[in-house]
Amino acid sequence: MGLIHQLPVELSNQIAAGEVIERPASVVKELVENSIDAQATQVLITVKQSGIKSIEINDNGVGIAADDVEIAFQPHTTSKISTDHDLFNVKTLGFRGEALASIASVSRLTVVTSTDGKSAVRAEFAGNTLLNKETHARSIGTTIKVEDLFFNTPARLKYVKSLHTELNKIVDIVDRLAMGHPEISFRLIHEGKDIVWTSGNSNLQQTIAGIYGRTIASHMMEFENSDEDYTIKGYFSKPDTTRSNRSYISLILNGRYIRNYQLANAVIRGYGSKLMVGRFPIAVIDIGLDPSLVDINVHPTKQEVRLTNEGHIAILLVKESKLSYPHKI
Ligand code: ADP
Ligand code: MG
Repeated sequence: MGLIHQLPVELSNQIAAGEVIERPASVVKELVENSIDAQATQVLITVKQSGIKSIEINDNGVGIAADDVEIAFQPHTTSKISTDHDLFNVKTLGFRGEALASIASVSRLTVVTSTDGKSAVRAEFAGNTLLNKETHARSIGTTIKVEDLFFNTPARLKYVKSLHTELNKIVDIVDRLAMGHPEISFRLIHEGKDIVWTSGNSNLQQTIAGIYGRTIASHMMEFENSDEDYTIKGYFSKPDTTRSNRSYISLILNGRYIRNYQLANAVIRGYGSKLMVGRFPIAVIDIGLDPSLVDINVHPTKQEVRLTNEGHIAILLVKESKLSYPHKI
């Protein structure tokens, strides 16, 4: 008798969760991305104990059809791509179809969803097992509540840092998702207190104000440029408004927050000697590119991407950040 066997589905989901769901902020990221993909215009995120006790995401998106609710929580199930052509033209934030299955495998999860605003479904899962499914009522959209994260994977819970650190990571994710989607109103409430609240009126500068404050936003310099392959626009702080690390340089590519060392560096290089040593600007750069020129399938959490035109965009960013504060400061 051989020794090789297929892993039970709960176990393979937990392994997948190990890659995608590292901490409460990963749950927030995945669920909010789903709300964005569902065309929500309002996303309310309510968090208790930095997400360890509970994370609730309430959206007014298209909802999940009653028949799809159980399927959505199976691994590798998605409504977003079907063919290899879709895979290389991804227009949504999700496409791997593993977030819901992964999150449900390491938490107690309740979903209430409606596609018509009349009938709704409420389903409860614990460690991926469907405990209960019943009809319910709610307006069109979806609410997903995740409680007792990592209750069944204590080793993972050990890697969760202080509540303060975990909350910061959640705020950071919500900030970046909000900057990528000024057309959506995001509200983050922690222990009853408003932490982030963006207007959703499509104005990036007002969204930046909702995140970094009005004073900073109003002093930032706007730029815009494009050629036949891409559009690039955003805001740079003046060299006298700086931070001690580069994490305030936000890069958004087709509405997706990305990390890209070369592009962040290009922004910094444009400031040249105007930046003091060890200081970094605040910048929000929004790049629009034909999806086929981007390979987002590089990293499971999809923050690192490959760009066909990276060098070209970098040169442009250096130029724009140089131009943004012409002579006097
Ligand atoms: P992916 O986002 O990669 O498709 P997920 O596991 O995150 O995979 O979600 C599975 C499917 O569940 C999605 O493709 C979508 O059809 C549906 N879904 C998840 N969250 C929502 C939501 N908030 N509103 C509407 N549909 C959703
Ligand atoms: Mg998803």
